[in-house]
Amino acid sequence: FDKRDGWIWYDGALVPWQDAKLHVLSHGLHYASCVFEGERAYGGEIFKSTAHSERLRYSAELLDFTIPYSIQEIDAAKRLTLEKNGLVNAYVRPVAWRGSEMMGVSAQSNQIHLAIGVWEWPSYFDPAQRLKGLRLDLAEFRRPDPATIPCKAKAAGLYMICTISKHKAERRGYADALMLDYRGLVAECTGANIFFVRDGVIHTPTPDCFLDGITRRTVIELARRHGIEVVERQIRPEELSDFSECFISGTAAEVTPVGEIADWRFAPTGITHQLMDAYSQEVQPKKAAA
Ligand code: PMP
Repeated sequence: FDKRDGWIWYDGALVPWQDAKLHVLSHGLHYASCVFEGERAYGGEIFKSTAHSERLRYSAELLDFTIPYSIQEIDAAKRLTLEKNGLVNAYVRPVAWRGSEMMGVSAQSNQIHLAIGVWEWPSYFDPAQRLKGLRLDLAEFRRPDPATIPCKAKAAGLYMICTISKHKAERRGYADALMLDYRGLVAECTGANIFFVRDGVIHTPTPDCFLDGITRRTVIELARRHGIEVVERQIRPEELSDFSECFISGTAAEVTPVGEIADWRFAPTGITHQLMDAYSQEVQPKKAAA
């Protein structure tokens, strides 16, 4: 990925893609003092850009550091990076981390860095798998107790178990894995939130120990706008056999149907397709009124 051409926004300047480097003794690498975002631009506009910039700054605060750029500056930097790379439909990845001035758990005065990369990423999952409905494995690791980690941060450190779980699922022939939480309740996938349908009603886990995704909130709003009831509640894995449809949501994944989770089967049809369409319309840039 580092061999590409293009431009990366790095601490306030646009630098050539291959020169956007950091020192190996960076605190963010050793101690995971690193937060990031995942966003998508459609037709030249980043969907919910400000909400993502706010979450980035908030994630950093939860890790006890302050990003030295305002929400407006981060929004502008993302736009600039897209323009410089000549992209209109793209994935946008801001990342902020503690630098390399001090090495040790304590790094109070290390510089806080911010970089923004953008690239084309048409589909997070294989398009053929997406069409049929994804096959999900059950992850071995569970989303931790909120008393043990800052669970509302989109922090690099919280992705360690996601990568392990996703790799294991892929090795076993699955597209992704469903993670339970510390209580054994249904939580989310390794990079997306999850929804189920039963008798025309959507059920989704209450986000009390995992990311309440920006896409998740958009999907809930769209469903309600279409007159579909949405219930946020605790969901036990045994209940999975009661649901007829299942889909996941995330900036990269957008709205993606799920066909199987371990031994459970779903036929993602009506509501899943309705929300896939509604989401793809919602993300299109709004034309300014004439
Ligand atoms: N959970 C995890 C673990 C994620 O990585 C993501 C993707 N950021 C989500 C949920 C969905 O969040 P969003 O809709 O804000 O992209």
